[in-house]
Amino acid sequence: MNDSSEARAVFQHRPKDECGVFAVFGHPHAAEITFFGLYALQHRGQESAGIVVADEKNRKFKSHHGMGLVPQVFNDKEIAKLPGTRAIGHVRYSTTGSSTLENAQPIVVDCARGQIAVGHNGNLVNATQLRDELEATGAIFKTTVDSEVILHLMAQPSANSGDSSLIQSLCKVKGAFSLVLLSEREVVGVRDSLGFRPLCIGMVDGAWLLSSESCAFDIIPGAKFVRDVEPGEIVVIDENGLRSFKPFVPKDRLGFCIFEYVYFARPDSMLEGANVSAVRTNMGRELARLHPVEADLVIPVPDSGNYAALGYSEESGIPYDHAFVRNHYVGRTFLNPSQLAREFGVKVKLNIIKARVAGKRVVVVDDSIVRGTTARARVMNLRNAGAKEVHIRISCPPHRHPCHYGIDFPDPKDLIANQLSHQEITKYLQADSLGYLDTAGMVRATGRGENSFCMACFNGKYPVAVNPDLDKLIFERRKGRADSLVFAEETAPRLFNGKL
Ligand code: AMP
Repeated sequence: MNDSSEARAVFQHRPKDECGVFAVFGHPHAAEITFFGLYALQHRGQESAGIVVADEKNRKFKSHHGMGLVPQVFNDKEIAKLPGTRAIGHVRYSTTGSSTLENAQPIVVDCARGQIAVGHNGNLVNATQLRDELEATGAIFKTTVDSEVILHLMAQPSANSGDSSLIQSLCKVKGAFSLVLLSEREVVGVRDSLGFRPLCIGMVDGAWLLSSESCAFDIIPGAKFVRDVEPGEIVVIDENGLRSFKPFVPKDRLGFCIFEYVYFARPDSMLEGANVSAVRTNMGRELARLHPVEADLVIPVPDSGNYAALGYSEESGIPYDHAFVRNHYVGRTFLNPSQLAREFGVKVKLNIIKARVAGKRVVVVDDSIVRGTTARARVMNLRNAGAKEVHIRISCPPHRHPCHYGIDFPDPKDLIANQLSHQEITKYLQADSLGYLDTAGMVRATGRGENSFCMACFNGKYPVAVNPDLDKLIFERRKGRADSLVFAEETAPRLFNGKL
């Protein structure tokens, strides 16, 4: 697990991540490759995992889902029960719907159009309204996850026979979606028009691969990264190869989640043409320019602060050291949401090497402050170890707003930056100084323009209209309240005549 997954694993109530998707077309070991792919994407979700394969012989889908980490859900025996050359897989950390087995993805349906399975990364902002409409026409949902509406929309008889049910469905859903779909003949990859969540294409032994992040290709022998699926692109992979469709009117801006660069994605992934570790190092350099300080040592909060701390050290010339030691075996044991357990969890995962910091002025670098628990504990560690000064540097701006596109932050009232002023936060953390990177520096670090990104969790500007009442348990609560969102993509041209 990387830093992000570890932070997520400690407490169930802590801010949560989104999901990871993976797909294979045309490989005799499709399920096994998907298993390895999901293993590499584990940091994107640790609650449940699932793989669906299409059996060549009788075209019947076979699937296995379970709660827990990928190696807890799958073993040799389970993989052997999933024969076939096409597969899709999913790791989930709930962003909509509660954490139960029936909500594990990929979701499979058998409808008039045949069998279809979907794995979804992201969050739909009009799922409640769509679900209400579908239920009014008799649809029976088997999960409480927003992604199921996509399958129900696809399963509906088309008003215009011959239209692609996939395109029709995508015209109706709003929000963030990177999807992998399995039909009886194809594997399909889709990214919403703003490209909130990543999705990329790879190849191995002549077989096509789709993955949330390119790091999954690195661990599959012989696999290579081909390219990102573009925002608004649909890639259809069948016996004729890969075809690309761009049926939607292009947007005048994009909405890639900048927090993928800051924290979520693995540092070894390439996202939108940039290596994540390189972007994080740039963020650290920007941070050093924005908030310089006289100090003896720069240390990261491992692993989330590693690359930003490196950049800070390179730019400032202050030596870099590792004073925190991670316990790599802290996992899902700590599920008690009490404050005591939370603080114990924060302490148990990192220990400090006193001799490295005693008597020193230390700059401690982390990627973000959410509730402030981690940063406060780190300052306490450093003070107890005898550090003379502790300066906190954070490689993104303060978090003030919820994410409606697939990242689970706590209630905005629990975000420390909403409760306290800069000065009060510094005092609460017991730090000598505190410096956050600003939006401009964060964007510069990516090498791309501001219009490329969704930064709603920092600036409250939501690129797709959201229902502020939406939260991840919305379907359990069934407020019965419709969104008032319009479908801007209703005019999309027809593409497929097949089952998708
Ligand atoms: P906190 O202790 O609540 O301030 O959490 C801050 C730590 O949580 C940071 O060090 C991040 O590495 C990590 N983090 C930030 N955002 C998230 C998120 N959405 N899910 C899980 N962990 C996160």
